[in-house]
Amino acid sequence: MRLVVDLNRCQGYAQCAFLAPDVFTLYGEEALMYAPNVEEPQREQVRRAVAACPVQAISVDGVGKAGGQGGGQGGGQGGGHGGGHGR
Ligand code: SF4
Repeated sequence: MRLVVDLNRCQGYAQCAFLAPDVFTLYGEEALMYAPNVEEPQREQVRRAVAACPVQAISVDGVGKAGGQGGGQGGGQGGGHGGGHGR
């Protein structure tokens, strides 16, 4: 799953670094580093970090969809142009 932190929102509370130290590291007061690709073993930590962030700066893809990515979108548009000029 992929992880994005909105660093403009992040206030350096370090909740995430505390809850998911494998993924988030805080350097100094507010320089947050993170690993954007989250491996399976870190998922739970990251989920907690997402929930704990006071400003909801962390967003992830693929949370809550255990097993398989069903991204099926039927894109069927019937585009029938009837261009009959009757004389
Ligand atoms: S918990 Fe949220 S505000 Fe705090 S360091 Fe992490 S991303 Fe930033």
